Amino acid sequence: MIKKIPIRLRLTMVVIILLASCCVGLTLILNKSAFRMVDIIEATKLTPAKTTDPAAKVNDPLPHIMIPNIASQAIKTNYKAKSIIYMVFIVILGGVFTYYLLGKVLFPLKSLSLQMKKVNIDNLSEDIALPEVRDEIYDLTHSFNEMTHKLNDAFTMQRRFSQNAAHELRTPLTVLKTKVDVFKKRKDHSIEEYDELINVISSNTDRLSNLVKSLLTHSNMENLNLNESIFLRGILIEAVEELSSIAKRKNLTINIVGAEKVISGNKDLLYRAFYNLIENSIKYNVNNGGVDIIISENNGKAVVQISDTGIGIPDDVKENIFEPLFRVDKSRSRDMGGSGLGLSIVKSIINKHKGEILVLNNKPKGTIFKVIL
Ligand code: ADP
Repeated sequence: MIKKIPIRLRLTMVVIILLASCCVGLTLILNKSAFRMVDIIEATKLTPAKTTDPAAKVNDPLPHIMIPNIASQAIKTNYKAKSIIYMVFIVILGGVFTYYLLGKVLFPLKSLSLQMKKVNIDNLSEDIALPEVRDEIYDLTHSFNEMTHKLNDAFTMQRRFSQNAAHELRTPLTVLKTKVDVFKKRKDHSIEEYDELINVISSNTDRLSNLVKSLLTHSNMENLNLNESIFLRGILIEAVEELSSIAKRKNLTINIVGAEKVISGNKDLLYRAFYNLIENSIKYNVNNGGVDIIISENNGKAVVQISDTGIGIPDDVKENIFEPLFRVDKSRSRDMGGSGLGLSIVKSIINKHKGEILVLNNKPKGTIFKVIL
């Protein structure tokens, strides 16, 4: 019930309780000391001042005056009633004043809340104006703006991902459908035509299945053991060996330099990450080019650097290459069988291991991927 009361009213109630406690205490103390004073005065015989009248007899004894008991009782009752009335009046006045002041103090918070309510998925990129005073509300508004920017980036990426994923799935499906439709138009087909159809179906279903597999890996990295002992040089050699047939086609030289290094992580995931990076350094390389893989250590961290002599990555898209389904040259990458998910999977794996991945230019040409774990 108390949780439903607005903060302004709650704070006013707290102030009223504090004010009332202080006022009651003060009134009790004042009443007590005033009553004691009345009692003392009541008990004291008052002697009137000596007269200056020469006619008055010098030897006349001065009369003593006593305050009657009934009068002192009336004074006490009167004092008590008035002090209670003033106390109640002060508490009510204090409460009203506090409520008014809190309204002024909490106004920026209320207007911030109204502006926040207007924020929706279509205007996430618009900032809420920062207040002039650099107080807690300024910090809150600033943090809220930062949060909406992050949300906006995430939504934009999500939207681009869905569009790209739909496009990637649609392309092989369209090829399949067109091929089958054309095939159905005629009844009699030669063996070569059957073979061609089967090849198209096979390559496109492979592509679809690889794409779906990559999408699943991308979204399925939870609950994996990240504490396995991994021999870095060992898994790099394994990946290079598996990719040696495509490296041979381009006549590439692949070197692995550096001593063995043992780190902890998930073997399958890290193998997948390095496999993707080495595969790219081969796919986007030139004939007779080279790939250098260097294992080293920096500040207690393992560093793996994969440099190639390939086509390189333009500086303005270096930020984007880790986005799912982003490709610098769409048709070229697709022809090479790329799904555009490789580097985003690499990035997710490295992030999962709390590592870092950097992309740099190789000299005189090519790309360097640096993984720090
Ligand atoms: P893909 O499956 O298309 O290779 P990736 O996510 O692995 O997708 O890479 C994204 C894009 O980054 C690629 O399409 C390619 O344009 C670019 N890229 C990745 N690695 C390299 C590299 N070593 N050299 C040049 N370009 C690269």
